[in-house]
Amino acid sequence: MLKIGCHLSSSKGYLAMGKEAVKIGANTFQFFTRNPRGGKAKPLDVQDMAAYQDFAREHGLFPILAHAPYTLNACAADDGLRTFARETMADDLARLEHIPGSMYNFHPGSHVKQGAEIGIDLIAEHLNAILTPELHTTVLLETMAGKGSEVGRSFEELRAILDRVELSDKMGICLDTCHVSDGGYDIVGNLGGVLDEFDQIIGLSKLKAIHLNDSMNPLGSHKDRHQKLGEGTLGMDALERIINHPMLRELPFYLETPNDLEGYAREIALMKAAYKES
Ligand code: FE
Ligand code: FE
Ligand code: ZN
Repeated sequence: MLKIGCHLSSSKGYLAMGKEAVKIGANTFQFFTRNPRGGKAKPLDVQDMAAYQDFAREHGLFPILAHAPYTLNACAADDGLRTFARETMADDLARLEHIPGSMYNFHPGSHVKQGAEIGIDLIAEHLNAILTPELHTTVLLETMAGKGSEVGRSFEELRAILDRVELSDKMGICLDTCHVSDGGYDIVGNLGGVLDEFDQIIGLSKLKAIHLNDSMNPLGSHKDRHQKLGEGTLGMDALERIINHPMLRELPFYLETPNDLEGYAREIALMKAAYKES
């Protein structure tokens, strides 16, 4: 069965997200742990989290993907900003322990003018400070489009981060189809070749989730503008090959397309219809 969901607003809590997911035909979902621009999280509502888990068991919603605020920068030059990223992510992970088995995705960071090497070291340092052996959440590095000084624009950079993380068994990768295409990986013309490259450099066992987005921009544009499925430069055929690929088809897929809930419901139904049950 295809595991697919979309990005949902977390403002009404976990149980509300679970119900919304089921309503639009999803069997998983992604959400921001707090305002995507950073800031304070809502008070911890353990009851809502417990009620959500009962609901999730009933409806087969596991695993869910939490997304860190995208303004956090684990490799900022300013150490106040790095401390803020560390404390925020540590707090998010502590909260997620109430829903064991979740995944937590973050943008590795932007090295600004320090260079990718220093960025990679700082991101690994950040992860070594927040990962613990007891953690029940898998932390995912997202593949980035390479806009500005983003770290994680290539499989090599992601591998270099993982190599420096002590508890790397707590880590995985979330592959964003818009980002990798914008980053220069030809998943339209050569999906098999890109996945082989991923496997050689990082290892496919590390791939834990897919952000399924079309892109407004051509291959290698380094832009990061998501488009609705089938309306961008990837196109429906390529997206259908992605959800059905033997190396990907068991993974959870998350839509981050510019849509309201109805639009998401339509895209989920389209992808479900295109999925070849084996
Ligand atoms: Fe993201
Ligand atoms: Fe993404
Ligand atoms: Zn993006």
